[in-house]
Amino acid sequence: MKTIADLGDLRGKRVIVRSDLNVPLKEGAITDDGRIVAALPTWQQLLKAGAKVIVLAHLGRPKGAPDPAFSLAPAAARAAELLGQPVALTPTTEADGLFPPAALSILAGLGDGEIAFLENIRFDPRETSKDDAERGALADKLATLGDYYVSDGFGVVHRKQASVYDIALKLPAAVGGLVLKEVEALRRATENPARPYVVVLGGSKVSDKLGVIGNLLNKADQLLIGGGMVYTFLAAKGYGVGTSLLEADQIETVKGYLGTAVEKGVEIVLPTDIVVADQFAADAAHRVVPASAIPDGEMGLDIGPASAELFRSKILAAQTIVWNGPMGVFEFAAFAAGTKAVAQAMVDSAGFSVVGGGDSAAAVRLLGLPESGFSHISTGGGASLEFLEGKTLPGIAVLEG
Ligand code: ADP
Ligand code: MG
Repeated sequence: MKTIADLGDLRGKRVIVRSDLNVPLKEGAITDDGRIVAALPTWQQLLKAGAKVIVLAHLGRPKGAPDPAFSLAPAAARAAELLGQPVALTPTTEADGLFPPAALSILAGLGDGEIAFLENIRFDPRETSKDDAERGALADKLATLGDYYVSDGFGVVHRKQASVYDIALKLPAAVGGLVLKEVEALRRATENPARPYVVVLGGSKVSDKLGVIGNLLNKADQLLIGGGMVYTFLAAKGYGVGTSLLEADQIETVKGYLGTAVEKGVEIVLPTDIVVADQFAADAAHRVVPASAIPDGEMGLDIGPASAELFRSKILAAQTIVWNGPMGVFEFAAFAAGTKAVAQAMVDSAGFSVVGGGDSAAAVRLLGLPESGFSHISTGGGASLEFLEGKTLPGIAVLEG
């Protein structure tokens, strides 16, 4: 992969950067600016080199047309504060979509060392089109705006989209520092891991994540299972799971995984105790029960203390640890202990420790753990998961040409 340094002298050059600015908003205000902060170094590197920087990004899921609710305006304002310089944002219109004359003239008028955001790229339906020609047409249009393309939105590199994939075929392209750092860390953790290699899986996107397990059974030494995924495993072992999160149609698949794990000598470690609650609420009445005895009518919202201790000991014995997905509903203090124990064990471990998954990274911050205690915290949940699955990521493959 070419890096920014390989592009040569950038003074006066128009550099299009794909960043991941998909920040959470509440009533128009950014509630976590982590992705903007992560995007800054690449912009600063380019601005310092005298480039004219044009940022492409998406926010949320607008329906392929301009929609003020999904404007990048809050992100541009925050970026300007963090950079200490103005960040222009192009306007959109119904008639000309993303590219009205006023937008094009803002981009054309950029000076050396200046930066502008193109409005939410998903205001154009071609961005996410399944039709190669449609995406290609948008990429052609975007390519007229720049001399070079830099791919730096790790959260989208697993997507075959115009601003991620197709544009890299139209302009001389390089990988940005953020994506490079992610790829290096995730390859180190997944391709040739120092052993023991322990993967901790949790969270609520159960069917998405079950797919990862098939590949991990060829790679990992131990899989520690927590979060909402546990209950499908417990059901596969024949235990009742009450009203816990359950993917009944995946029980057979999970039985298959348990069998394959035995054949391959991979240890699947399930919790031995569970914190159950009478309802999904911060103040729900709760207690610890054996994982084999979840009462009818109650739901598991965290792994129990004995399980947290067990998971901690496995993590401390590992050389490589990858964690994706909280162990419980950590947003409620009563159900955060399992997640905190896993995260703390990773901090205390001397092994190479990688956090993937948006909510897992949010949990690290919410629970007050030092980010410096981890070898790497990924900015891309879906993309890091696809690494674990061993898939080819289109936005990376295209840069490797
Ligand atoms: P990530 O973003 O790290 O990949 P997910 O999006 O898969 O993780 O899942 C995160 C969510 O999983 C959190 O909001 C958490 O509350 C929820 N969760 C964890 N354990 C449970 C559980 N036992 N029941 C319901 N939800 C859970
Ligand atoms: Mg998530």
